[in-house]
Amino acid sequence: MNANFNARLPDGGAERAPTALLRQAAYVGGQWLGGKDTIPVSDPSTGAVLGQVPNLGITETRAAIELAAKAMDRWKALLPQERSRHLRAWHDLIVANREALARLMTAEQGKPVAEARGEIDYAASFVEWFAEEAKRIDGEMPMSHLPNRQMTVCSQPVGVVACITPWNFPCAMITRKAAAAMAAGCTVVVRPASETPFSALALAALAEEAGIPPGVFNVVTGDAETIVGELCTNRLVRAVSFTGSTSVGKKLLALGATTIKRMSMELGGHAPFMVFPDVDLDTAVAGAIDAKFQTTGQDCLAANRIYVHADIYDAFVERFTAATRHLRTGDGFGDVDLGPLMHGRAVDKCLAQIADATAKGARLTCGGTAEGLFVEPAVLADVTPDMAIFHEETFGPVAAILRFETEVELLASANDTDYGLSAYLFTHDHDRICRIADAIGVGMLAVNCVKMTGHPIPFGGMRDSGLGREGGRHAIREFLDLKYVCAAYRGAS
Ligand code: NAP
Repeated sequence: MNANFNARLPDGGAERAPTALLRQAAYVGGQWLGGKDTIPVSDPSTGAVLGQVPNLGITETRAAIELAAKAMDRWKALLPQERSRHLRAWHDLIVANREALARLMTAEQGKPVAEARGEIDYAASFVEWFAEEAKRIDGEMPMSHLPNRQMTVCSQPVGVVACITPWNFPCAMITRKAAAAMAAGCTVVVRPASETPFSALALAALAEEAGIPPGVFNVVTGDAETIVGELCTNRLVRAVSFTGSTSVGKKLLALGATTIKRMSMELGGHAPFMVFPDVDLDTAVAGAIDAKFQTTGQDCLAANRIYVHADIYDAFVERFTAATRHLRTGDGFGDVDLGPLMHGRAVDKCLAQIADATAKGARLTCGGTAEGLFVEPAVLADVTPDMAIFHEETFGPVAAILRFETEVELLASANDTDYGLSAYLFTHDHDRICRIADAIGVGMLAVNCVKMTGHPIPFGGMRDSGLGREGGRHAIREFLDLKYVCAAYRGAS
């Protein structure tokens, strides 16, 4: 197992090897917890087993929650600047161990190591941001509507927070939640995806090294339904922050209702990518390639429906197909643009969407074959609403291109979905930008660009894409309760 990681060490440099951050134990109450029953973790590029993590059950999950609840007494009592310093120390260690964390991530997730490095930077940026935000939680003193009353509204940490995360961003989805909750004065129990626990445990190793007090940041591994079921129903957990599919999100909302928890949900997406004829075609093609194929298409922000105006449609399809043919797919440690998919079922979904679309008249202009977990990036032109790919999140490297004639027709089609996470618009017509920004039913819109996420912005979606926001100054509110105090005072005699 170590040999498998050792073969993937960075060349030279003073940095630690990825194996130095490899932990095959859960992290609970500041202790590393093994288990006889374990779950294997595999490298999706090679199929090799990288290691094992404990398959913890309800008893250990309850213990983790109780330790987190106990740790909260001291954590929330710290001065904000003290909590901030702890988070800052954690951030600095994440940055210092960027290469090791990135390689650990590529080994278990498969994404190209350059993308993994980008994710570590993204993950660290949330810790830095919330280290600062910890100092900015404030309150209000409303003007009293009653005589001789002093009215104050203050914020208090909500309680233990459960963070349930997916495998496509194994570090950033954890820090985006946990750093905000910890800055608010909450303690957290993280349950990472079964496919990518080593990134989560490496973050825990660095939290320990940073001196974050025991019980403040916990990571439990094991069966999803058992652990997540306990996290969503245990009374001591007061907020659940979930990133994953809409179907699982709906189940967790129902579970959380039993104890009236604060639930924040970052769920699936089905982003329209809309191109008008007044833009530079190569810029729009390059943007669409990025928006579709980053993270091998396994991205909630992936451009799932690429709408191109009829005037430039044929040229766009031709150039987009040519650019797609240039993308290199392979082992994330090689010189590649795309890695493997995470599961056989993801490969099957890509192939099924291609078969369905071509049977209904779409043209497959390139790609679409699969070998193991590697799918050759595919382009489907002439996609129409009767095809599965028009309605389903693909979560893989299959691009669907649709033709449109008018803005009205485009908006009706782009909004014809229950998802509402993100959208991309390419036009320089200011009036059109304002109209579409107003009418498109998403939480995030990128205009003439693709990269839009980062620590200062409120990330999140509408309708089936979720509840609440992560990142930005709003996010900390997900983990704070408001308390209002009305104090009567005696008038002057
Ligand atoms: P998923 O299947 O919903 O899994 C997410 C997490 O939930 C994992 O930890 C998983 O554990 C756990 N889980 C799965 N089934 C469960 C169940 N029945 N009960 C309790 N927990 C359960 O999603 P995924 O396939 O990992 O991730 C892809 C989805 O996440 C996509 O829809 C994508 O759009 C969405 N996503 C959204 C955002 C956003 O910010 N909006 C960001 C990234 C991804 P196991 O790993 O053990 O199954």
